[in-house]
Amino acid sequence: MSTDLETEEHQALRAAVAALGKRYGRDYMTSVVRDGAHPRELWTEAAKLGYLGVNLPEEYGGGGGGMAELSIVLEELGAAGSPLLMMVVSPAICGTVIARFGTDTQKRQWLPGLADGSLTMAFGITEPDAGSNSHRITTTARKDGGDWLLTGRKVFVSGVDIADATLIVGRTEDARSGRLKPCLFIVPRDAPGFGRSQIDMELQAPEKQFELVLDDVRLPADALVGDEDAGLLQLFAGLNPERIMTAAFGIGMGRYALGRAVDYAKTRQVWKEPIGSHQAIAHPLAQAHIELELARLMMQKAARLYDDGDDIGAGEAANMAKYAAGEACVKAVDQAVHTLGGNGLTREYGLASLITAARVARIAPVSREMILNYVSHQSLGLPKSY
Ligand SMILES: Cc1cc2nc3c(=O)[nH]c(=O)nc-3n(C[C@H](O)[C@H](O)[C@H](O)COP(=O)(O)OP(=O)(O)OC[C@H]3O[C@@H](n4cnc5c(N)ncnc54)[C@H](O)[C@@H]3O)c2cc1C
Repeated sequence: MSTDLETEEHQALRAAVAALGKRYGRDYMTSVVRDGAHPRELWTEAAKLGYLGVNLPEEYGGGGGGMAELSIVLEELGAAGSPLLMMVVSPAICGTVIARFGTDTQKRQWLPGLADGSLTMAFGITEPDAGSNSHRITTTARKDGGDWLLTGRKVFVSGVDIADATLIVGRTEDARSGRLKPCLFIVPRDAPGFGRSQIDMELQAPEKQFELVLDDVRLPADALVGDEDAGLLQLFAGLNPERIMTAAFGIGMGRYALGRAVDYAKTRQVWKEPIGSHQAIAHPLAQAHIELELARLMMQKAARLYDDGDDIGAGEAANMAKYAAGEACVKAVDQAVHTLGGNGLTREYGLASLITAARVARIAPVSREMILNYVSHQSLGLPKSY
């Protein structure tokens, strides 16, 4: 793919991460999933090479870059067939929020480990009765002496089993209803009252999703990240990176599938020319390539705006990038499977399970419809139906 809009450093980073990804690739991920394991070797090696903490501040062991660099890492690992979903959560959301709003103690405690891969953090906002409507979340923190007691339920939270802690979005007792005034708490994995049960997902991915129950989880005062009165700003400092990284995840996966389909279409021959010479096969692949390129352009714009400190501008671009990447990914994977005919559905070629995986980029962390709602209301000024 052309990378003209990127600096030489970015292009070098792409090439280096692609080389790492190639050494692992889809076969590695497939074997990790088959063994019910985690992609620990890849995670550790990527961290050692400085890729996982590339967006985190240098003084805490990071690379001093931003979302432009971190999204390159995830896209290239994905394009090699070995995406690390927890990158969306651990360095991108949690690392960013702590770097921007954490106390010195929180930064010292978490950032070096998030950067070198020795610590991982999950992120929990979704609730069973709130879903896309985050203003409806009811996880509540009340003060008890100098501590906080956190109570509530979360659902679909990824990687809680392997994460050292989960950054939980709740609200304080004083702001229990109405428009969300979020508060972010670091909840250690083994905190008493913090229960988790794995959700049986139809996804072939090493990262598992969990339903969480928080039953009066006692947390020290310094479990709160940032200001309890800061409102939505602190949360969006983490959610915009999440959207940019989900775009990177989708673009990477789409590129991987497209690459497999193009290879196949060049060699598979059932008439006198390879099937790739038939426009009914070639054009949809060309379209998928164009749409992935376009999605990447918007992702780069979102990352640039975010890294330049324009949270508002980044919000619109990050939503658009996530939308475009989700759609491009779903289409690329679908066309790739079709291009392989029957082989598209075999385990040997390993593409069919991406049909389910690609849908994640359309649903999470914010669905296609909620982005269309956002653009209708925020960008176009159309009235709201809900
Ligand atoms: C693999 C995976 C990993 C995830 N990881 C995490 C995680 O780590 N942490 C976390 O907190 N969450 C996580 N999630 C949750 C994810 O963010 C939610 O699934 C997503 O926000 C949608 O919420 P919901 O599933 O409750 O759907 P709902 O909100 O119930 O929506 C269902 C459908 O209705 C549509 N809809 C809802 N409201 C409207 C409206 N106003 N207008 C039009 N259509 C509407 C939606 O677009 C969707 O198609 C994960 C989900 C998946 C699938």
